[in-house]
Amino acid sequence: MTEIVTATPKGLYLETFGCQMNVSDSEKIVSLMSELGYRRVTDPALADLILLNTCSVRAKAESKVYDYLGRLRLRKLKNSRLIIGVGGCVAQQEGERLLKRVPYLDLVFGTHTLHLLPDLVLAAQRGERRSSTDFIETETRLNLFPQAADTGELTRFVTIMQGCDNFCTYCIVPYVRGREISRRSGEILGEIREMVGRGAREITLLGQNVNSYGVKSPGELHFADLLREIAAMAGIERLRFTTSHPRDISPELIACFADLPKLCGHLHLPAQSGSDAILDRMNRGYSRTEYLATVAALRRARPALAVTGDIIVGFPGESEVDFQETLSLLDEVRYVDLFSFVYSERPETAAAGFPDHLSRGVKQQRLERLQLRQREITQEICHGLVGTVQRVLLEGVSRRGDQLTGRTDANRIVNVAGDPGLIGQVVDVVISSSHPNSLLGELL
Ligand code: SF4
Repeated sequence: MTEIVTATPKGLYLETFGCQMNVSDSEKIVSLMSELGYRRVTDPALADLILLNTCSVRAKAESKVYDYLGRLRLRKLKNSRLIIGVGGCVAQQEGERLLKRVPYLDLVFGTHTLHLLPDLVLAAQRGERRSSTDFIETETRLNLFPQAADTGELTRFVTIMQGCDNFCTYCIVPYVRGREISRRSGEILGEIREMVGRGAREITLLGQNVNSYGVKSPGELHFADLLREIAAMAGIERLRFTTSHPRDISPELIACFADLPKLCGHLHLPAQSGSDAILDRMNRGYSRTEYLATVAALRRARPALAVTGDIIVGFPGESEVDFQETLSLLDEVRYVDLFSFVYSERPETAAAGFPDHLSRGVKQQRLERLQLRQREITQEICHGLVGTVQRVLLEGVSRRGDQLTGRTDANRIVNVAGDPGLIGQVVDVVISSSHPNSLLGELL
């Protein structure tokens, strides 16, 4: 790659859709593009380069990308030197087709070709339209994990693996992110050490299925060992990870919740359904009983563990009885929060070929019933926190600007009056009231 740094920075406007993996990739994009003299701007009108980092997990997320691209047409007509690019999961799925479908699009980069983005932008500056969406082989995996610029923030995300081998029948991830590839542990530990040196206090490890980290790499640490190595580093206050597959929660990982005080008391553990018949059709690899046994074992290790989850409603063939089993799962697990969606058919996936007799109305109604029950549970759990003392990492000033804001060990947002000099510290807070999306407290 030829490095060109322009005297006057050019504007990069970056729109990120989807999950935390994409947010993390966007940080890397900003870092890569700064080497070409681009600085991030918050107004697309000031941009010389507009990049969309996309998500295709649900049809709605994908159509948002096309709507957005449609709106950029006029901008390109007014400014022919503007470069427009699409990356992420929609780009991986569509590849060259995107260039054909959107004639004013300049470049397309996939989930494995982030590192080629500067070359694609240089080509676009020369007027060449290019797409690069090849999957990378395991042995060249270094390219898969470019580091983000270290911004000195208190809370940082670190990608430890990419892709997934599970092929749940509804999920597009193995097709757009590729098969599981674990990043080398030495590289991960090195990046975290640098972040801590620059002031990071909380690290969240990211991957589609972090629990199977290292399993396919001979001689590599396994996930529980990696957690123990990171928790032993001086300067780290808190350690989190996402996402976990329930089938891959090992006894060694459960033991980490008992042994490592720095490992936060929150776990995102997507069940997707409470019905064995649906779990089987989803190819999830566990039964309702096994899922509940895993939650129970985790809570024996860490009694106050807060669990969040994902549920898909209206999967092909879901009967009212299946749905009732999902509703009752909520009561048994008592999720503190739940991400719930109506099933969305995705191309290439096995479930796209399943007969689906449920009407849109029934699916929507089930989603509303599920979300209503979850709101009640969330409210009950949060009301139960009133009067308790919570350890809160103060991360900054609240949106209204008159309070400090931080998160509990269980990842609930807490606002509290206090001196901004406390930002960056872990403090004890008495919870005084609970609100739909946050807690209010007083410094002890
Ligand atoms: S575990 Fe299943 S749902 Fe999660 S990314 Fe892999 S295939 Fe998709």
